[in-house]
Amino acid sequence: MLGGYMGKVLWVHLDTGVIEEQSLPETMMRDFVGGYGIAVRLLYDRIPPAADALSPQNVLGFLTGPLTGTPMPTSTRWTVVCKSPLTGGWGDANGSGFFAVALKRAGYDGVFFTGVAPQPVYLYIENGRAELRDASNLWGQDCYQVEDWVKEHLGQDVEAACIGPAGERLVRIAGVVHAKGRVAARSGVGAVMGAKRLKLVAARGNLEVPIADPERIKELRKKYVGQIMDGVGYADSYRKTGTPSYTPIGAVNGDSPVRNWRDSVAAFHGAENLAFEELLKYRVKRHACWRCPIACWGTCRVEYAGRWHETHQPEYETGAAFGALMMNDHYPSIMVANSLCNRYGLDTISAGGCTAFAFECYEAGIIGPQDTDGLVLTWGDHEAMNRLVEKIALREGIGDLLAEGVQRAAERLGPAARPFAIHVGGQELPMHDPRYEPALGVIYRLEATPGRHTQGCQFLVPPGYESARPDFGEEPHKQAGRGHWVKEALCLHHVSNAAGLCLFGYLSMMATALPDFLSAIWGEPFTLQDMMTTGERIANVRQAFNVRAGINPLAWPIPERAYGMPPLPDGPTAGITVQIEQMTREFLEDMDWTLDAAVPRPEALRRLGLDDIARDLWPQAGQTC
Ligand code: SF4
Repeated sequence: MLGGYMGKVLWVHLDTGVIEEQSLPETMMRDFVGGYGIAVRLLYDRIPPAADALSPQNVLGFLTGPLTGTPMPTSTRWTVVCKSPLTGGWGDANGSGFFAVALKRAGYDGVFFTGVAPQPVYLYIENGRAELRDASNLWGQDCYQVEDWVKEHLGQDVEAACIGPAGERLVRIAGVVHAKGRVAARSGVGAVMGAKRLKLVAARGNLEVPIADPERIKELRKKYVGQIMDGVGYADSYRKTGTPSYTPIGAVNGDSPVRNWRDSVAAFHGAENLAFEELLKYRVKRHACWRCPIACWGTCRVEYAGRWHETHQPEYETGAAFGALMMNDHYPSIMVANSLCNRYGLDTISAGGCTAFAFECYEAGIIGPQDTDGLVLTWGDHEAMNRLVEKIALREGIGDLLAEGVQRAAERLGPAARPFAIHVGGQELPMHDPRYEPALGVIYRLEATPGRHTQGCQFLVPPGYESARPDFGEEPHKQAGRGHWVKEALCLHHVSNAAGLCLFGYLSMMATALPDFLSAIWGEPFTLQDMMTTGERIANVRQAFNVRAGINPLAWPIPERAYGMPPLPDGPTAGITVQIEQMTREFLEDMDWTLDAAVPRPEALRRLGLDDIARDLWPQAGQTC
C-alpha cells in the first residue's frame, strides 16, 4: 500500500448514530492525493445535485492529506468540505494548527458526516475508535469555551475543531475553529456543521503514519528546513512576521480594497498605524503549528472598551477586512474584531465584507438607525463595526439579514443595495484587489469556490517552478495573456492543498519539495508534471460538481467596482479596468471548458480518467460544444 495514509475514512450517519469505516482504494489516492481531492471525488457521487446545503442531504467532511503527520515541514492543514450554503456549489476551507495530525494519528484520513443529529453531538476519535457523544452542555458555548472544555475534560493532548454560536445559528459566513483561532473559515462550512447539530470533532492518537522511505525523509527534512531557514521564497517574511507585515503594504500598494472597494488608498491615511511594530506592542506570545519551523502566528492581548481580549494576531486578510475596507486604522479594534470572529466562529473576510456592505447601505440611506437598533454606521467607527460583528454572529436585529451574506442581504434590500454587495457567486471577495492583480478576477469568477485568493493566484507559486510564465511580479498590472497562466498555479495549489501542506510553507521551499516528499512517503515517484495532471483532475471534478448543481459562473454578475468598472480615478491602480472577458476566455481555452458555461469538455474529462463524469455531463454520445 502507498505510504502516507491510514487507509480509511469514517462515515458518521448522524440521524441513526451508525458509524462505518470505508477503505480508500489506492487508485483514488494516486489520482486525487487526499484532502479535498479525495473528498470531491467521493462526494460527487454522494451529494445529490439539487441538495440544499443546509439540508440533511448535504455531507460534511474533515480531511487530512498524505503529508499530514509526517516530517514534511508545515504539513498541518485540515480541510473541511461540503456543498456551500453561500454559493450552492462546492465548498471547502482549511485551517492549520494541530488538529489534522491528531485526526490522522487517531487512525483516519478523514471523516464524513451525513444526515442531522436529533440533538447536539460531538464525535470523539481515539486510535481507531470513534464515538458520538452528547454535546447538549456545549451548545451555545463559544469556541474559546469549547476549546477550554476539551482540554479540561477530554485531555490536554486532545485536539478539536468546533463551531460557535454563529454556526449553531446557521450564519452562512460561519467557519470551523480550532485552538481559538486556527480557522477553516470560508465557504460557510460552519453553517453546515451547525445544520447537522455537530458541535465539535475531537481526536487523540499515537498511531504512526506509514512512510515508505524513512531515511530519505530524514534527508529531505534537513534539506528543506534548511531552505526555510535560508529564506527561500517567502520564508523570511512568514518566519519573521507572518502575514500581518503585509497589512500596511497592501493598504498602500493598491492590493487592499478601501471603503468597501469604492476608493483608493488616496482616501485611507492610516496605513502606518497598521504597521507590524504596532501589532508587536500587543503580542504576548509567538506560536507554531505542529513541528513547524516557520512559527508564523502569535497571541495578542488588548484592552478595548473596558475589557481585556486575548486573540490570535490578525492575519493580513483580517487586518485589511476590518482595516482599509472599513476605513479603520485603530489596530486594537481590529484585534477585537478578530477575537469576536474566532469566539463566535465567523469568517473574518466575509464578516468584514458584510459590515462594509452595511456601512455603505447606511451611508446611502438604504438602512437607517431604525434598522440597526440605533447603531450609527459611520466609516471608521470601530465600536459600531464590532457591535455589528456580534449582531451578525448572533443573528440579532440587522445581523439576521447580514448573516445571510451580502448577496442575499442585497436581494432583500433591493436594487439600490446591489452595487455595494461585493461578492462573486454569493461569496464575499478576499482582500486582494483584481485591479492590482488582474488574474484574480478570473479566479474569483471561475474557481469552483468563487471569491477565493488561495487557489490559482500567480503571486503564490514557489521558487524553482520551471515555467515560461512572465514575471508578473515585475509587471503586476499586465493583462494580455495573463489568463493563460492561471491554470498552472491552480493545479499546483490543488495538489498542495490536497496533500495537507500549508500554503505558507509551500511558498517557502523550492517547488521540488512537495514531489520529493510525496515520492519518499508514497514509495513511488511523483513528479512536478504529475502534480499538474493531478491538479487538473481535481479542478475538473470540482467544476463538474458545480455544473451538475446548475451553476454557470459566466452568468454570475461581476461586482463591477472591484473589476475597475469604472476605474479608480486615483491611487496606484488608477485607470485600470480588468480585462475579464479576455482573460476568462484564455483560462477556459486552457482548461478545455466550454466558453459559454465553463463545462469541462468530454475529451478533457476522459483524458483525465473521468469517464463517468464525462457521461454524466455529456449524456448524448459524441456531443461536443
Ligand atoms: S507557516 Fe504558520 S500557519 Fe503554516 S504551518 Fe507553519 S505556523 Fe502554521
